[in-house]
Amino acid sequence: MAQAQPRVGRWPRPAANRLLYIEVALPLPEKELISKLRHQSAGKPRLGSVRIGIGDDCAVLRIPAGHEALVTTDFSLEGIHFRRDWDAPEVIGHRCLTRGLSDIAAMGGEPIAAWLSLALPLSVSQKWVDGFMRGLLRLARRFGVQLAGGDTAEALRDIAADIVVLGSVPQGKAVLRSGARPGDRIYVTGALGGSAAAIASLLHSGALARPADYPQHFRPLPRVEVGKRLRGIASAMIDVSDGMSTDLAHLCEESRVGAEINAESIPRARVGRTRREVLREAALHGGDDYELLFTAAKGKRVPFQMAGIPVTEIGEITRKGKIMLMGDGLARELKPLGWEHFTR
Ligand SMILES: [Mg+2]
Repeated sequence: MAQAQPRVGRWPRPAANRLLYIEVALPLPEKELISKLRHQSAGKPRLGSVRIGIGDDCAVLRIPAGHEALVTTDFSLEGIHFRRDWDAPEVIGHRCLTRGLSDIAAMGGEPIAAWLSLALPLSVSQKWVDGFMRGLLRLARRFGVQLAGGDTAEALRDIAADIVVLGSVPQGKAVLRSGARPGDRIYVTGALGGSAAAIASLLHSGALARPADYPQHFRPLPRVEVGKRLRGIASAMIDVSDGMSTDLAHLCEESRVGAEINAESIPRARVGRTRREVLREAALHGGDDYELLFTAAKGKRVPFQMAGIPVTEIGEITRKGKIMLMGDGLARELKPLGWEHFTR
């Protein structure tokens, strides 16, 4: 997709003691930018939860009676989480909020409001910022989430976006990573590896993948409704953001258990024009799918489909600390090979 045409502006701004102006693509000055965001984000708050949003020193919110607050924060960093030459700004904004909403979903919660801190280099055009906000706010509206504040700053080189999402869950009902017990069955929603396959295709061909061929990469949808319905069913839950092998390892570590995964039963995403199944390795280790990985006691009735999303049983929690991958008549240890920062 063509990069937005930059708006040409001047920086530093004209001032008596400055003789040299450099012509650059320039986002709006901070005050204008915030006022624009405030205007864009004005919406009907859910249940009147956000009493005061953008414009004061703090947002003021109401948590529904008998509920607890859930708070999560996630970076979207240029060069680490996204590339401007790969994705349209709408997609980057959409994925930025998805990361936060998916964490709320993984606790069985309901998202209420979001805060966005955005650091922008002067090489970013206002058109890019508008696209980013369009993608983010469209998703926010879809999930009844209000943008209730944030911060903007000038970055030296790369874009950095940090999203904070506040949600709520009935008191004591949050589904934790630590609740899995030996004998529990392991399930995953949707299909895995679609986003990794898109990145592999982009790396391989250098060309832009067709968004329609890789919906999990370009328009991942956080499984908020499924997460809510899993309250009282799931014993433990996590969202698949770093890759199934890595996120399952997180869950097992918090629950102090091991797991056996049946390689054949892992649902693999279908991608490309031919809707081919992604490689097993992509489904095992690929990140950014934003599906839910959860456990439920043996004998607990888990629907095959929830809120229109397929749910697949992929294994069982064990007493031993290890995570084993069973398949082709073999049992081998499943190492967490998903995404981990500070390991390259
Ligand atoms: Mg998470």
